Amino acid sequence: MKILVINCGSSSIKFQLLEMTSEKLLAKGQIERIGMDGSLLKIRGKHEYVIEIKRTIKDHRTGINLILESLTDANYGVIQSLQEIDCVGHRVVHGGEKFKEAVVITGEVLKTISSCITIAPLHNPVNLEGIKICLELFPDMQQVAVFDTAFHQTIPETAYLYGLPYELYIKYGIRRYGFHGISHQYVTHKVAQKMGRKVEDLKIITCHLGNGASIDAVKNGRSIDTSMGFTPLEGLVMGTRSGEIDPAIIPFIMEQEDMTGRQVYRYLNNKSGILGLSGLSSDFRDLESAARVGDRRAQLAIDVFAYQVKKYIGSYVVTMGGVDAIVFTAGLGENSPYMREQICDGLEVIGAKLDLEKNKVQGKNTKISRTDSNVELWTVLTNEELMIARETQRLYEVH
Ligand code: AMP
Repeated sequence: MKILVINCGSSSIKFQLLEMTSEKLLAKGQIERIGMDGSLLKIRGKHEYVIEIKRTIKDHRTGINLILESLTDANYGVIQSLQEIDCVGHRVVHGGEKFKEAVVITGEVLKTISSCITIAPLHNPVNLEGIKICLELFPDMQQVAVFDTAFHQTIPETAYLYGLPYELYIKYGIRRYGFHGISHQYVTHKVAQKMGRKVEDLKIITCHLGNGASIDAVKNGRSIDTSMGFTPLEGLVMGTRSGEIDPAIIPFIMEQEDMTGRQVYRYLNNKSGILGLSGLSSDFRDLESAARVGDRRAQLAIDVFAYQVKKYIGSYVVTMGGVDAIVFTAGLGENSPYMREQICDGLEVIGAKLDLEKNKVQGKNTKISRTDSNVELWTVLTNEELMIARETQRLYEVH
């Protein structure tokens, strides 16, 4: 069977077409800059190379139609007709407390995703739009929603409640939800498979370190704590996001810089993080290059990030009562030996010893710890689309 995976962002759509159960990737690509100048579609279909199609893509509807056109294109497409697609899986960022796992999309499910818009105003509307467009295009096809929050629904109350009046949790659902759950779940299973062990027998810390970054404590296959919170702004310092700060800083900035609450929120999301700390870039590649030639603030931003990752790892070792494996994934985690070295420096205290030679890898699923390390260190390539396809197939078979 063929499963189309759709991941709608505010100005982008990522997609993959997979043959299941073999998990063979037939085509993948993305649409960028929706509604902006220079919008385009990139696809790797029939050929090994990526094809770029520059078009005016004014909205997500135009984007999804273009994806479907490209999948059936006579030159580089991979299917003859759209009828070959059996099922569509959608990534949805926020499932609130209602969705503890992926679900087949029904009218009721759409209403519930919609009700989560108040707590995920940046993400859920666009996810919902993508689903509605696909339901119109394929009215008779089963479609599935896979949530970024669902994997974290096993986090206990003690870890998800904030020190706020309990009524706010009851009234508005203010609590830690956690994000990147599809990725944390995927790499958890992948590393267990690589270790030749069952997830149920392992304590794993997964470090999803990309432009957005989060860490997860996975005990016996269940997420028991994670660094992102009510929104993806909490936790680690990120590309442009501040991560956790003293909440008193918010009214302070509002007064001192004459900003509204909304403006400070945007400032914390878009102008902070390693971009704000370094004054240079939100991309760790730029910071690593600048630090090599002596840029102090670039080095500082790297050091702050590595320190925070280490701090989370330490706390999760304690909350889980030990750790068997630490996994690095996403853009930075998979590709930066330097950052992994900075993070692992000092982890000997928990029995984790990095092998500096083995660590010299990029883009591989591989063990990077020394043979005498009690904790296994791994780099694992995340694949959120494959995880979505697996969940979509699982539900297809059940229904
Ligand atoms: P992601 O959000 O998972 O796509 O990760 C993107 C981020 O990964 C970029 O912004 C970079 O900061 C980081 N990254 C990707 N490749 C490298 C690399 N070779 N060295 C350092 N950082 C990298």
